[in-house]
Amino acid sequence: MSDEQNICPKCNSPYAYPDRLLWICPECTHEWVPEQASDTPSEDAPRFLDANGTPLRDGDTVTTIKDLKAGKDTMKLGTKVKNIKLLDDLVNGHDISCKIPGFGAMYLKCSVVKKA
Ligand SMILES: [Zn+2]
Repeated sequence: MSDEQNICPKCNSPYAYPDRLLWICPECTHEWVPEQASDTPSEDAPRFLDANGTPLRDGDTVTTIKDLKAGKDTMKLGTKVKNIKLLDDLVNGHDISCKIPGFGAMYLKCSVVKKA
């Protein structure tokens, strides 16, 4: 709990104390409900993180971090993938849609790429 909570918003007394859900100031008898902790995750917290934990966005360029099967072929580690599209709904567990020259339209996972 941060020290700031002890400060009365009315008289700035630093001696406020918590009583159940309320905070009470012994100097001016002001009572108040503390603000919700602001470190709760926001709704737009990044969902799409690459292998390094870097957030990815639509249109990003990424490179693959390992060899990936692409039909009969293998897409080599380090293949550059431009203009990715992030999928809100997974497709067979994949969350990136993209087109790769020589391979065509493909699905990838954020966990096997890193932001270029
Ligand atoms: Zn006070």
